[in-house]
Amino acid sequence: MRKQNDSNLYDFISSASNEGFRYVNYSTGYVIVSERWRELFGVPKEKENDEKEFIKYIHPDYRKKFYDKMERILAKQENSYEIEYVLNDGRWITHAGTNKYNSDGVLVEKFSFFRDITSDKEKQKELEYMAYFDADTGVYNKNYFLKRLDKAIYKSQHGGYNRIQTMYMDIDNFSVINDTIGLSLGDELLILFAKRILKYASHTTKVGRFSNDEFVIALYDAESDKEVFDIYDDLMEELKTPFILSDGKKVNVTLSVGISVYPAGGVTAIDLIKCADIAMYNVKRNGKNSVCVFEESMLSRFMKNANMEQKLKDAVDNLDFVLHYQPQFDSEKGIIRGAEALIRWKISEDELISPGEFIPMAEKNGCIVNIGEWVVEQALDDFCNWKNNYGYKGVISINFSAVQLMNSDFYEMITEKVKERDIKASDVEIEITESVLIEDPDAVIMQLGKLKDKGFRISLDDFGTGYSSLSYLKNMPIDTLKIDKSFVDSMLNDDSTGIITDAVIKMVKKLGYETIAEGVETDEQYEYLKKMNCDNIQGFLLGRPMSSEAFINLIKGEI
Ligand code: C2E
Ligand code: CA
Ligand code: CA
Repeated sequence: MRKQNDSNLYDFISSASNEGFRYVNYSTGYVIVSERWRELFGVPKEKENDEKEFIKYIHPDYRKKFYDKMERILAKQENSYEIEYVLNDGRWITHAGTNKYNSDGVLVEKFSFFRDITSDKEKQKELEYMAYFDADTGVYNKNYFLKRLDKAIYKSQHGGYNRIQTMYMDIDNFSVINDTIGLSLGDELLILFAKRILKYASHTTKVGRFSNDEFVIALYDAESDKEVFDIYDDLMEELKTPFILSDGKKVNVTLSVGISVYPAGGVTAIDLIKCADIAMYNVKRNGKNSVCVFEESMLSRFMKNANMEQKLKDAVDNLDFVLHYQPQFDSEKGIIRGAEALIRWKISEDELISPGEFIPMAEKNGCIVNIGEWVVEQALDDFCNWKNNYGYKGVISINFSAVQLMNSDFYEMITEKVKERDIKASDVEIEITESVLIEDPDAVIMQLGKLKDKGFRISLDDFGTGYSSLSYLKNMPIDTLKIDKSFVDSMLNDDSTGIITDAVIKMVKKLGYETIAEGVETDEQYEYLKKMNCDNIQGFLLGRPMSSEAFINLIKGEI
């Protein structure tokens, strides 16, 4: 049927590309199809000339679209067109055609090229998915969540939505859970968690993931002020049922949740979420497993903290600190037994910030290690000065927190600095609070033992404030025990504390440890402690923390 020269041309075209090719000459009735076209559509040979036949292979959902488009093209006598459709078997085809018309506007020839674009479509879908969704959990990713929320805010500003409420959720102690069950089960837990919160998703309620274990829900069109709390309550109920992991383990989780409401909690998506996050952080600070609504006052506190963190880092670079020393007195003889070094942050020429305000932050961000090194150097230098130039005979006590003590360089650091200055280790007392034992008591006890073997004195600070139990005391490599101010405060007014203090001192002495009572403020307290044979007294009554110069005057007064 077809002319030889045409055939060569079409064979050339069809073999030159990987596309299916179909040619129709409406005036002669010629139809030419390439091998690839046959493969793509699978139309039986005897029917391949029939245009209606091949259209049957187009999925019904797309067939009408195809007809409409062809009709429009013919009506406008357009020369080229491109259309995408799905075949009955689900494959995607892109179809590009060129039409030729005669002078009367009648279609005479049609060249069509067909290509299977299924894998391109899949890739595109995947990319779209990646652009919108969190790959692990299937909830919206952060970017898309924020984009949608901004749109909702816009709509709400133009009267479209009622109330926008957001809820920031953080799984409590997730890192601990992860350490316990392992990373892959941890991921599984997150997927199961996401599934549970996805049940709240709807046309106007969206769920997103902001980081590993942080999820967010936004209500675009809450019906009442309490709708977000209804979700919270419902979720709390849900979480009473443990998650069951693939290895059969049951895991219970609790959440810290912060809530922010538009517009009080921000007028952009980012601000709303930040405020909910700040409220969540507030819950964390107050013991987790609860909910809190963002308030303006939190922001100023948060800003102050963020501000302070940077300032603290600068202070570490510039060493804007001073040490004050508080004397400790032998309760019998009344002479100086030691000096406790207490750090202050010199935030300006005449303003000092107390350690309680910045040490926790320094512990969290790791600054404490550098700060501690400076404290050791300064305290040892002052100690050398007192000893060599003023005949000081007492010890120097230095405070260390768990982070410092368990730093891998701690032992090296302190032994080096003592050696450099030719100081006896037994003149240096390492003060640690019993809270250092919480994380890993065995490792701490080993570290303390090593330091004690080297000759350092070890002092257990704040005894009686919580973790203490007399039974483990006997296994502790310590020399000194400091009885906390809270005991001292109440022992005179409260019989049971008096009895306990008495018993503690007796027992501690039996174990062979030296005792120091902290925070002694009155003569009565002093007398009482002395009567109970407490070895040493430290407190405002006998001396407040003071500069090194003031301490030198104190030493001079003794001689
Ligand atoms: P701490 O080791 O229990 O130190 C005793 C705290 O009680 C000091 O507060 C001291 O000024 C205060 N104090 C002493 N006697 C009395 C008294 O009679 N009445 C009252 N009300 N208070 C008294 P400061 O200097 O604010 O230190 C607070 C805490 O900061 C210290 O508690 C210690 O845990 C920590 N700290 C201080 N310096 C350092 C340091 O260089 N490194 C580390 N890691 N922590 C430090
Ligand atoms: Ca102390
Ligand atoms: Ca203390």
